[in-house]
Amino acid sequence: MKHLKIVFVILAWMLLNVMVANGEEAAPGEPPHWTYEGEEGPEAWGSLDARYELCSTGHAQSPIDISGAEADDLTGITFHYNPSALNIFNNGHTIQVKYDEGSSITYNETEYHLAQFHFHHPSEHTINGEAFDMELHFVHLDAAGNVGAVVGVMLKQGETENPAFAAIFGNLPAEKGDPQPTDIVINAADLMPESILYSTYSGSLTTPPCTQDVRWLVLSTPVELSAAQLEAFTSLFELNARPVQPLNVRDLLEDTTADS
Ligand SMILES: [Zn+2]
Repeated sequence: MKHLKIVFVILAWMLLNVMVANGEEAAPGEPPHWTYEGEEGPEAWGSLDARYELCSTGHAQSPIDISGAEADDLTGITFHYNPSALNIFNNGHTIQVKYDEGSSITYNETEYHLAQFHFHHPSEHTINGEAFDMELHFVHLDAAGNVGAVVGVMLKQGETENPAFAAIFGNLPAEKGDPQPTDIVINAADLMPESILYSTYSGSLTTPPCTQDVRWLVLSTPVELSAAQLEAFTSLFELNARPVQPLNVRDLLEDTTADS
Protein backbone atom coordinates (compact mmCIF):
# COMPACT_ATOMS: atom_id res chain seq x y z
CA MET A 1 0.00 0.00 0.00
CA LYS A 2 2.77 2.42 0.89
CA HIS A 3 4.53 1.58 -2.37
CA LEU A 4 1.38 2.18 -4.35
CA LYS A 5 1.07 5.62 -2.78
CA ILE A 6 4.64 6.48 -3.77
CA VAL A 7 4.05 5.24 -7.33
CA PHE A 8 0.91 7.36 -7.51
CA VAL A 9 2.73 10.47 -6.30
CA ILE A 10 5.52 9.91 -8.85
CA LEU A 11 2.99 9.39 -11.66
CA ALA A 12 1.11 12.54 -10.67
CA TRP A 13 4.36 14.50 -10.60
CA MET A 14 5.32 13.21 -14.06
CA LEU A 15 1.89 14.08 -15.47
CA LEU A 16 2.14 17.60 -14.04
CA ASN A 17 5.55 18.05 -15.68
CA VAL A 18 4.22 16.92 -19.06
CA MET A 19 1.33 19.40 -18.73
CA VAL A 20 3.68 22.27 -17.86
CA ALA A 21 6.02 21.39 -20.74
CA ASN A 22 3.12 21.29 -23.20
CA GLY A 23 1.83 24.57 -21.86
CA GLU A 24 5.17 26.21 -22.62
CA GLU A 25 5.40 24.67 -26.05
CA ALA A 26 1.92 25.54 -27.18
CA ALA A 27 2.37 29.06 -28.50
CA PRO A 28 -0.80 31.04 -27.95
CA GLY A 29 -2.25 32.44 -31.18
CA GLU A 30 -2.21 36.04 -30.08
CA PRO A 31 1.12 37.63 -29.14
CA PRO A 32 1.05 38.80 -25.52
CA HIS A 33 -0.04 42.19 -24.32
CA TRP A 34 2.63 44.85 -23.78
CA THR A 35 2.67 48.39 -22.47
CA TYR A 36 4.89 51.46 -22.21
CA GLU A 37 5.02 51.46 -18.39
CA GLY A 38 5.00 48.95 -15.55
CA GLU A 39 5.53 45.19 -15.55
CA GLU A 40 4.90 44.78 -19.29
CA GLY A 41 6.90 47.90 -20.15
CA PRO A 42 9.91 48.32 -22.51
CA GLU A 43 12.43 46.74 -20.10
CA ALA A 44 10.35 43.55 -20.01
CA TRP A 45 9.29 43.29 -23.68
CA GLY A 46 12.06 40.84 -24.58
CA SER A 47 11.01 38.38 -21.86
CA LEU A 48 7.23 38.53 -22.40
CA ASP A 49 7.36 36.07 -25.31
CA ALA A 50 9.98 34.23 -27.42
CA ARG A 51 8.71 36.18 -30.42
CA TYR A 52 9.70 39.43 -28.66
CA GLU A 53 13.26 38.26 -27.90
CA LEU A 54 14.97 40.79 -30.19
CA CYS A 55 13.62 43.60 -28.00
CA SER A 56 16.28 42.63 -25.46
CA THR A 57 18.88 40.67 -27.48
CA GLY A 58 18.96 42.77 -30.68
CA HIS A 59 21.98 44.96 -31.26
CA ALA A 60 20.39 47.13 -33.95
CA GLN A 61 17.34 48.49 -32.12
CA SER A 62 15.32 51.68 -32.44
CA PRO A 63 14.85 54.44 -31.49
CA ILE A 64 18.26 56.04 -30.90
CA ASP A 65 19.62 59.43 -29.94
CA ILE A 66 20.69 61.14 -33.16
CA SER A 67 23.92 62.88 -32.35
CA GLY A 68 27.43 62.80 -33.77
CA ALA A 69 26.10 61.68 -37.14
CA GLU A 70 28.62 61.55 -39.95
CA ALA A 71 27.85 64.31 -42.48
CA ASP A 72 27.59 63.22 -46.06
CA ASP A 73 26.00 64.04 -49.43
CA LEU A 74 23.47 61.25 -49.38
CA THR A 75 21.04 60.20 -52.04
CA GLY A 76 17.66 61.90 -51.65
CA ILE A 77 14.38 60.26 -50.70
CA THR A 78 11.90 60.43 -53.57
CA PHE A 79 8.30 60.62 -52.36
CA HIS A 80 5.46 59.36 -54.56
CA TYR A 81 2.63 60.03 -52.13
CA ASN A 82 -0.93 60.18 -53.46
CA PRO A 83 -4.19 61.07 -51.69
CA SER A 84 -5.89 58.41 -49.55
CA ALA A 85 -9.15 58.02 -47.72
CA LEU A 86 -8.72 58.77 -44.01
CA ASN A 87 -8.95 55.29 -42.46
CA ILE A 88 -8.15 56.01 -38.82
CA PHE A 89 -8.20 53.87 -35.69
CA ASN A 90 -6.92 53.51 -32.15
CA ASN A 91 -4.97 50.22 -31.84
CA GLY A 92 -4.49 50.57 -28.09
CA HIS A 93 -0.87 51.71 -28.46
CA THR A 94 -1.30 54.67 -30.82
CA ILE A 95 -3.55 56.31 -33.38
CA GLN A 96 -2.88 54.76 -36.77
CA VAL A 97 -3.97 55.78 -40.25
CA LYS A 98 -4.16 52.88 -42.70
CA TYR A 99 -3.08 54.27 -46.07
CA ASP A 100 -4.65 53.36 -49.43
CA GLU A 101 -2.42 51.39 -51.81
CA GLY A 102 -0.51 53.28 -54.47
CA SER A 103 1.88 55.50 -52.48
CA SER A 104 5.59 54.83 -52.07
CA ILE A 105 9.08 56.21 -51.61
CA THR A 106 12.19 55.35 -53.57
CA TYR A 107 15.42 55.21 -51.63
CA ASN A 108 18.74 53.92 -52.96
CA GLU A 109 16.90 52.58 -56.00
CA THR A 110 14.54 50.49 -53.86
CA GLU A 111 10.80 51.13 -53.77
CA TYR A 112 8.96 50.92 -50.45
CA HIS A 113 5.16 51.09 -50.24
CA LEU A 114 3.43 53.30 -47.70
CA ALA A 115 1.15 51.07 -45.58
CA GLN A 116 0.27 53.31 -42.62
CA PHE A 117 1.37 56.16 -40.43
CA HIS A 118 1.04 56.64 -36.66
CA PHE A 119 2.15 58.86 -33.80
CA HIS A 120 4.28 58.75 -30.65
CA HIS A 121 4.29 61.05 -27.63
CA PRO A 122 6.90 62.23 -26.83
CA SER A 123 9.21 61.65 -29.81
CA GLU A 124 11.01 58.29 -29.79
CA HIS A 125 14.18 59.47 -31.49
CA THR A 126 15.95 62.29 -29.73
CA ILE A 127 18.24 64.79 -31.46
CA ASN A 128 21.34 65.66 -29.43
CA GLY A 129 19.58 64.26 -26.38
CA GLU A 130 16.43 66.34 -26.79
CA ALA A 131 13.00 64.82 -27.33
CA PHE A 132 10.39 66.61 -29.44
CA ASP A 133 6.72 66.87 -28.46
CA MET A 134 5.70 64.06 -30.79
CA GLU A 135 6.99 61.91 -33.65
CA LEU A 136 5.17 60.77 -36.77
CA HIS A 137 6.17 57.45 -38.39
CA PHE A 138 5.42 56.67 -42.04
CA VAL A 139 5.75 52.88 -42.31
CA HIS A 140 6.75 51.42 -45.69
CA LEU A 141 6.82 47.79 -46.79
CA ASP A 142 9.42 46.20 -49.05
CA ALA A 143 8.61 43.90 -51.98
CA ALA A 144 8.35 40.92 -49.59
CA GLY A 145 5.76 42.72 -47.46
CA ASN A 146 8.05 43.33 -44.49
CA VAL A 147 8.62 46.73 -42.92
CA GLY A 148 11.56 47.98 -44.98
CA ALA A 149 11.75 51.74 -44.36
CA VAL A 150 10.24 54.16 -41.85
CA VAL A 151 10.29 57.92 -42.34
CA GLY A 152 10.24 59.76 -39.01
CA VAL A 153 9.01 63.35 -38.69
CA MET A 154 9.39 65.34 -35.48
CA LEU A 155 6.36 67.36 -34.37
CA LYS A 156 6.67 70.40 -32.13
CA GLN A 157 4.47 73.10 -30.74
CA GLY A 158 4.03 76.19 -32.88
CA GLU A 159 1.85 79.29 -32.76
CA THR A 160 -0.96 78.28 -35.09
CA GLU A 161 -3.07 75.30 -36.02
CA ASN A 162 -1.57 73.21 -38.81
CA PRO A 163 -4.39 72.77 -41.36
CA ALA A 164 -2.76 69.70 -42.95
CA PHE A 165 -3.29 67.81 -39.66
CA ALA A 166 -6.79 69.15 -38.93
CA ALA A 167 -8.71 66.20 -40.43
CA ILE A 168 -6.57 63.69 -38.53
CA PHE A 169 -6.36 65.43 -35.15
CA GLY A 170 -10.03 66.34 -35.33
CA ASN A 171 -10.97 62.65 -35.68
CA LEU A 172 -8.83 60.84 -33.09
CA PRO A 173 -10.78 57.79 -31.83
CA ALA A 174 -10.63 57.73 -28.04
CA GLU A 175 -11.42 54.02 -27.82
CA LYS A 176 -9.51 51.04 -29.18
CA GLY A 177 -11.14 49.65 -32.32
CA ASP A 178 -10.89 48.57 -35.94
CA PRO A 179 -10.08 50.90 -38.87
CA GLN A 180 -13.04 53.14 -39.65
CA PRO A 181 -13.20 54.28 -43.28
CA THR A 182 -14.36 57.88 -43.68
CA ASP A 183 -15.05 59.95 -46.79
CA ILE A 184 -12.37 62.44 -45.75
CA VAL A 185 -9.40 62.54 -48.16
CA ILE A 186 -5.89 63.25 -46.91
CA ASN A 187 -2.45 63.33 -48.51
CA ALA A 188 0.60 62.18 -46.58
CA ALA A 189 2.69 64.55 -48.71
CA ASP A 190 0.99 67.48 -46.94
CA LEU A 191 2.28 66.27 -43.55
CA MET A 192 5.96 66.62 -44.52
CA PRO A 193 8.28 69.50 -43.63
CA GLU A 194 9.61 71.66 -46.49
CA SER A 195 13.12 70.29 -46.23
CA ILE A 196 13.58 66.56 -46.55
CA LEU A 197 17.17 66.42 -45.34
CA TYR A 198 17.46 63.46 -43.00
CA SER A 199 19.59 61.22 -40.81
CA THR A 200 19.71 57.51 -41.51
CA TYR A 201 20.70 54.25 -39.85
CA SER A 202 19.63 50.60 -39.84
CA GLY A 203 17.30 49.88 -36.91
CA SER A 204 14.14 48.09 -35.86
CA LEU A 205 10.44 48.37 -35.15
CA THR A 206 10.09 50.38 -31.94
CA THR A 207 7.33 48.06 -30.67
CA PRO A 208 7.32 44.29 -30.11
CA PRO A 209 8.45 42.15 -31.88
CA CYS A 210 11.25 44.75 -32.46
CA THR A 211 12.10 43.24 -35.87
CA GLN A 212 15.41 44.53 -37.26
CA ASP A 213 16.67 45.44 -40.76
CA VAL A 214 14.48 48.52 -40.94
CA ARG A 215 15.95 51.50 -42.81
CA TRP A 216 15.27 54.59 -40.70
CA LEU A 217 15.05 57.98 -42.40
CA VAL A 218 14.52 60.62 -39.71
CA LEU A 219 13.87 64.06 -41.17
CA SER A 220 15.94 66.85 -39.64
CA THR A 221 13.26 69.57 -39.87
CA PRO A 222 10.30 69.38 -37.48
CA VAL A 223 6.70 70.21 -38.37
CA GLU A 224 4.74 72.58 -36.13
CA LEU A 225 1.30 71.91 -34.65
CA SER A 226 -0.74 74.08 -32.30
CA ALA A 227 -0.85 73.38 -28.57
CA ALA A 228 -4.50 72.35 -28.94
CA GLN A 229 -3.66 69.86 -31.70
CA LEU A 230 -0.90 68.28 -29.62
CA GLU A 231 -3.23 68.15 -26.63
CA ALA A 232 -5.85 66.24 -28.65
CA PHE A 233 -3.35 63.38 -28.99
CA THR A 234 -1.48 63.62 -25.70
CA SER A 235 -4.72 63.55 -23.70
CA LEU A 236 -5.31 60.07 -25.20
CA PHE A 237 -1.71 58.82 -25.03
CA GLU A 238 0.20 60.18 -22.07
CA LEU A 239 3.28 58.13 -23.00
CA ASN A 240 3.76 55.88 -26.02
CA ALA A 241 7.47 56.15 -26.79
CA ARG A 242 10.14 53.49 -26.33
CA PRO A 243 13.31 54.81 -24.65
CA VAL A 244 16.39 55.29 -26.88
CA GLN A 245 18.55 52.23 -27.51
CA PRO A 246 22.36 52.01 -27.84
CA LEU A 247 23.78 52.73 -31.31
CA ASN A 248 26.40 49.97 -30.92
CA VAL A 249 28.41 49.44 -34.11
CA ARG A 250 26.09 51.08 -36.62
CA ASP A 251 26.61 53.83 -39.17
CA LEU A 252 24.64 56.96 -38.42
CA LEU A 253 24.74 59.31 -41.39
CA GLU A 254 23.33 62.80 -41.84
CA ASP A 255 22.38 64.14 -45.24
CA THR A 256 23.93 67.58 -45.63
CA THR A 257 23.31 67.96 -49.36
CA ALA A 258 22.85 71.67 -50.14
CA ASP A 259 19.10 72.31 -49.80
CA SER A 260 18.69 74.26 -53.04
ZN1 LIG B 1 6.26 54.20 -34.57
